[in-house]
Amino acid sequence: MARYTGPVCRLCRREGTKLFLKGERCMTGKCAIDRRSTAPGQHGAANKKVKEYGMQMREKQKAKRYYGVLEKQFRNYFKEADRKEGITGENLLKLLECRLDNVVYRMGMAESRKEARQLVLHAHFLLNGKKVNIPSMLIKVGDVITVNATSKNSAKFKELVEGIDSKLCPKWLEVDKENITAKVVALPSREDIDFPFEEQLIVELYSK
Ligand code: SF4
Repeated sequence: MARYTGPVCRLCRREGTKLFLKGERCMTGKCAIDRRSTAPGQHGAANKKVKEYGMQMREKQKAKRYYGVLEKQFRNYFKEADRKEGITGENLLKLLECRLDNVVYRMGMAESRKEARQLVLHAHFLLNGKKVNIPSMLIKVGDVITVNATSKNSAKFKELVEGIDSKLCPKWLEVDKENITAKVVALPSREDIDFPFEEQLIVELYSK
């Protein structure tokens, strides 16, 4: 499965905002955006005028990078969002938020979506009691995500569980720290997505 393997802080600098791709480090003074917020490359510091198309493009790239999705897959999410009833931009973000790797991250089981994706790929999780290893799987209301018995007893997972703060979990997930389980009690709403996306710009870009 294709994925971005280059330097991730460069992506935040390119978008000019923190995308929180590195977990703990993003909250410290070591964050590249805090130290040098200009775009990467020789002309990164140049004061360029951003036109309408550029703004739309940047917003799309921001969402792709935030959720760790590549272009083709992102476009497929857009097509599905467009087919659904409701506001396309919101549908798109809600679909991305429902990805299994994002849910694992939101449960507090990983420091970043990238780490969550790795954990899912290595089949550490069960979805409704069945082993899963597909980070892009979309969750539904009533789904229960838990850690498989072998992983539960590993030192790595014991450490990860210690780090779970149920108060920080979104309200659409009911997290039981004792049993390392999360139940999807509702689908995420737009208000639950705490990143300030301007999703309408992405819709405009793909509607050209
Ligand atoms: Fe982005 Fe985190 Fe790197 Fe800061 S530390 S630039 S937020 S990935």
